[in-house]
Amino acid sequence: MEASKTTGLTESPHYVRMSLAAAMTLGFKRGLFYRNARLYCINLLLTYEQGCAARCAYCGLSGKRPGTYGGKSFIRVTWPTYDLGEVMDRIAERGRRVQRICLSMITSKRAVEDTEEICARLRSRLDTPISVLVSPTILRAGDLRAFRRAGADKVGVAVDLATPELFELYRGKGVGGPHRWTRYWECLAEALEVFGQGNAGPHFMVGMGETEEEMCRAIQRARDMGGRTHLFSFYPEAGSALEHRPPPPIDQYRRVQLARYLVDERLSHESRFSYDEEGRIADFGLSRGNLDLVIETGEPFRTSGCTGRDGHVACNRPFANSRPGPHMRNYPFPPTADDVARIRRQMGQVPMTAGTTQEDDREFRAESAGS
Ligand code: SF4
Repeated sequence: MEASKTTGLTESPHYVRMSLAAAMTLGFKRGLFYRNARLYCINLLLTYEQGCAARCAYCGLSGKRPGTYGGKSFIRVTWPTYDLGEVMDRIAERGRRVQRICLSMITSKRAVEDTEEICARLRSRLDTPISVLVSPTILRAGDLRAFRRAGADKVGVAVDLATPELFELYRGKGVGGPHRWTRYWECLAEALEVFGQGNAGPHFMVGMGETEEEMCRAIQRARDMGGRTHLFSFYPEAGSALEHRPPPPIDQYRRVQLARYLVDERLSHESRFSYDEEGRIADFGLSRGNLDLVIETGEPFRTSGCTGRDGHVACNRPFANSRPGPHMRNYPFPPTADDVARIRRQMGQVPMTAGTTQEDDREFRAESAGS
């Protein structure tokens, strides 16, 4: 891997960083996934010596976090850097195994131009569907159309926070950051217009101090606009401003996962939900019987992300939001009957002791201790 001739640095558009899971999938890194999970989306990230100009409190790439950009972990894993040409060769070799490529922007002045160029280069070599995880703050009118012309077919908008107050606190004035809540929702609306209904969606992260009610309202708002939510569970990143914050309780995350699925699949509507005095979901607006049938499928607890050519979720992000183990948050594969039984226990539907294994107990204690 040699540095680019122009800057002498390994920077985009000639180079990209990729998630450790993607590097394993393409054979750049050795490793095995827990329960033989498989990743179907190659998650790429723009890379510049200067790094990201934003300062989001929970993000490993934050400009406020000490260290060189290339050395900063992201979503708790390393993201090694590779020559884009080599990456395309490896994807071509793997054919239909790779169902999608996602290019994540960072807040940098060269990011818009380089995103368009990288999409065009990917499209010129591969027929793999391409998502762009955009940075709304630096996008100008026409940029989303340019990404589409260059070959992208879906867009993600990482709103992340469920309320304007939390957004301001963790991404805006609260951290001296450039991002604004209204700009992110505007960008989602623009992306749905340019890419079409269902081809753009927000990322939301559970566990940032929002109530379940506030999160469900944000998910419904996106659904009413035509978008589908990609759900994440907060997972502290060492060295970030929120490194000491624990993940949300597992029962909270399970209820919000279920709510997201019911809303996005139009099986219920937030206006039919009811909440307790602390804003926790008390009723999903479905009969007990129907709710049980939905839970029994396990589908609500799978990773929600961009789909591939086969219509299934390609961006399944194995173990990006929790440790690999029985208490994983987003299932990157269909949950088994045992998994669904465990999920019911986690939601408090069945006493936690019923049918638990030693490993369950150990993991549950570790999980509750937020380790
Ligand atoms: S869900 Fe995955 S593929 Fe889609 S925009 Fe988000 S990170 Fe990218």
